[in-house]
Amino acid sequence: MVWKLDKGVLLMQSKNEFIEQLKQRGYKLTKQRQAILNAFMDLEKPLATAQHIFEKVAEINPGINFSTVYRNLDVLVQEGIARKIMFDQGAAYYELIDGKHHHHLICKGCGKVQCVEYCPLGDMPMKEGFVPIDHSFEVLGFCKECVRAKLMNDERRRERE
Ligand SMILES: [Zn+2]
Ligand SMILES: [Zn+2]
Ligand SMILES: [Zn+2]
Repeated sequence: MVWKLDKGVLLMQSKNEFIEQLKQRGYKLTKQRQAILNAFMDLEKPLATAQHIFEKVAEINPGINFSTVYRNLDVLVQEGIARKIMFDQGAAYYELIDGKHHHHLICKGCGKVQCVEYCPLGDMPMKEGFVPIDHSFEVLGFCKECVRAKLMNDERRRERE
């Protein structure tokens, strides 16, 4: 299963499309690549670090090493199957590309990642005479639930004082 954004709602999608894509580009679907794709599909969040994916793969393939997973993740990025997103002081996150351009809201409290279709880019690069081929935009902050929890905590603390 993989997360897919449809009209702002995350849906599940099968992995066959990704496998077809790799085959069409002449890649062998090695056991390791399959395990990495599987790990991607089983993610509870749309984004994951290489370390997190490695741990998931290692659960099924205990012999695998980190650099193999890392190298294969880069192949997926090169082939346009996954996207590498850098934020929060250099931590790289990986996400399978569902075909739809989108951005992320990342909660520092609970780690929840929300995909949003809103794109803030506009025609700014073109105005600068620059032709953009790719960009990313991630917003770090706190989600509704975490803000609410924090407010309730503060309130309780005030009541006690
Ligand atoms: Zn949160
Ligand atoms: Zn996303
Ligand atoms: Zn955008």
